[in-house]
Amino acid sequence: MKFETKAIHGVRNNDKGENWGSTINMASTFPIKEYGAEQEFEYGRVSSPTRKDFETLIAKLENGKHGFGFSSGMAATSSVFTMFKAGDHFIFGLDIYGGTYRIMHDIFNKFGFESTFVDTTDLSQIEAAVRPNTKAIFVESPSNPLLDVTDIRGVVAIAKAHNLLTIVDNTFLSPVLQRPLELGADIVLHSATKFLGGHNDLIAGAAVVNSDELAEKILFAQIALGALVSPFDSWLLLRSMKTLKLRVEKAQENALKLLAFLKTQPEVEKVYYPTEAHNKGKAIQEAQASGGGSVFSFTVKSEAKAKSFLENLKVALFAVSLGGVETLVTHPSSLTHTEFPEEEKVARGVTRTLIRVAVGIEDADDLIADFKQALEQ
Ligand SMILES: *Cc1c(COP(=O)(O)O)cnc(C)c1O
Repeated sequence: MKFETKAIHGVRNNDKGENWGSTINMASTFPIKEYGAEQEFEYGRVSSPTRKDFETLIAKLENGKHGFGFSSGMAATSSVFTMFKAGDHFIFGLDIYGGTYRIMHDIFNKFGFESTFVDTTDLSQIEAAVRPNTKAIFVESPSNPLLDVTDIRGVVAIAKAHNLLTIVDNTFLSPVLQRPLELGADIVLHSATKFLGGHNDLIAGAAVVNSDELAEKILFAQIALGALVSPFDSWLLLRSMKTLKLRVEKAQENALKLLAFLKTQPEVEKVYYPTEAHNKGKAIQEAQASGGGSVFSFTVKSEAKAKSFLENLKVALFAVSLGGVETLVTHPSSLTHTEFPEEEKVARGVTRTLIRVAVGIEDADDLIADFKQALEQ
């Protein structure tokens, strides 16, 4: 089955009769039918029908075998990392999601985890960071907010040569545009808050794997830690994922139109997008994903211009997050990258004049008109 068909028919509620199509099972406990016999659902933290449907669907869409639903993207990442032990070492991308950096740098370090952060767009830096106790390489591609591309197949080759796991946070592109398991990755993570949820109305996360052995470890962590997505949010996700492809494609189309417009504007200095000609990862992006996605960044000529642009938008919202139907525009330097020192941010290109746009599915001309008037203020 093709993606759209799987998204719509990949999970049908167990009951095709009177309950078909719209059930949320909110139960936290399920009566034991027979003394001494095992049954699929007994206690809601361990397994629950609506969550199971979400997990089945995200696994199908990522072309994986086992899916796991969590209460947030960070819950998914944290739970997965509890499969490792003190003294294990990990290699991360330098510009991974701030929350991932935070749990490694300020929480898991206290339990003896060692982390090295390198520019994963340069595979030789990954290779050089491998130590005898390294267990996994964690990447995000494209990166935030400068949309740098990491060669996922290249990372997988290094990981395989050293017997390491490759973990990919696939939030930015969603399985519509990129499926890391098909590229050889071992674990795919999602903030389902973003494209999978798609309407800026829930917080959730997911993990998908092919290996039965990894699935057993993640299942253990999921049950033991209990950072689960609720039945109601699982149901919202199931509903949202039916339109995932339509939303992702429309948002990407809008992003390309907005980029084309911004490049003609005298106030705009530079645009950042995975498939822009000047992006050194363009060819890799085209080889591992079927589009650049709907998140891009651009710089304006002064911080005052950035401020007035952000304050004068009338359709797009000045807000963090991405992947929803609404266009959200944010200022990484002051909002999402606050834990890095100013010089480090500037050195990486996260300047005060940089604006990130997470394009939604509004009418492209309305968005262009909105950006135009806000730039002219
Ligand atoms: C939002 C986000 C996360 C964290 O997800 P939450 O649902 O907010 O916990 C992780 N990775 C990326 C790339 C994100 O954008």
